Amino acid sequence: MGKFMTGKAVSESIQKQIIEKVTQFKQKNIFPKLTVVRCGNDGSDLAYEKGILKTMETCGIQVEIIKKEINISQTQFENTIKTLNADKNTHGILIFKPLPEQLCESKINNLITPEKDVDGSNTLNLGKVITDDQSGLFPCTPEAVMRLLNYYGISSRGKNVTLIGASIVVGKPLALMLINAGATVTICHKKTKDIKEMCQEADIVIAAAGAPRLIKANFIKKDSILVDVGINFVEGKMCGDIDEACYEKAGLITPVPGGVGGITTTILAENVVKACMLQN
Ligand code: NAD
Repeated sequence: MGKFMTGKAVSESIQKQIIEKVTQFKQKNIFPKLTVVRCGNDGSDLAYEKGILKTMETCGIQVEIIKKEINISQTQFENTIKTLNADKNTHGILIFKPLPEQLCESKINNLITPEKDVDGSNTLNLGKVITDDQSGLFPCTPEAVMRLLNYYGISSRGKNVTLIGASIVVGKPLALMLINAGATVTICHKKTKDIKEMCQEADIVIAAAGAPRLIKANFIKKDSILVDVGINFVEGKMCGDIDEACYEKAGLITPVPGGVGGITTTILAENVVKACMLQN
């Protein structure tokens, strides 16, 4: 049976440093603040919001939630972002995605001032991932995976990593971060012919597809490292993209829940503090 890499210890070690920085800001009368924009009342948005409120409270970061109607127009949404860009008390802006379909997500991502883009979703910050420019605000979930590996002493240098999922928020930036760290990365997605074959030689398998229990025990090699980013609900129960049957064969595994998820909101808090530094 492999060993579990839980997210709690990783989050706590990062939060300690965040709290110190927030205290220093407060001594200078600067109060780090995150503003979240949410359209409608989607269940997964509300769950994410709950996690954000809890983490920000722990870190001493203020949060404001701006609620918008699901039928908001592009102009109205853009005006909200422009107001937040100009608001000196808001250091970080987070928009819940996916946005309602009448809105142009890429245009909105690029409207956010790069120094307030705590989700790392505009092209300037994504470009900084390519060049490994640490002045950027990096997307939270990919950064969470990198910090998890780092915390557990796993170097990606020279390792074969198979990554399942190539989205802009998770898979693609994570692939670049892994390459920057010296890994050889194979990226799989929905059109990949044989995921099993791609996983079999991997030292590290990272699943971020949103496909319940996609990775089976016969896909992985013995003692490999498995990182499960997936969050799925099957018959009301949360599960990841990695079948629990893999746990027996793997060396190290992240559980779902209790793995990467909690680290993501901690990285969001860290990005708010970094944004605050960039603006002061
Ligand atoms: P997405 O739908 O935007 O992208 C999914 C990617 O996986 C795509 O590249 C798609 O081609 C690929 N994919 C989907 N099904 C596949 C399959 N059967 N075989 C191979 N490839 C497949 O999703 P996303 O926003 O990148 O999120 C991916 C998963 O990670 C979801 O379960 C999501 O809930 C979870 N997530 C977790 C966190 C966290 O903090 N742990 C944060 C963000 C997303």
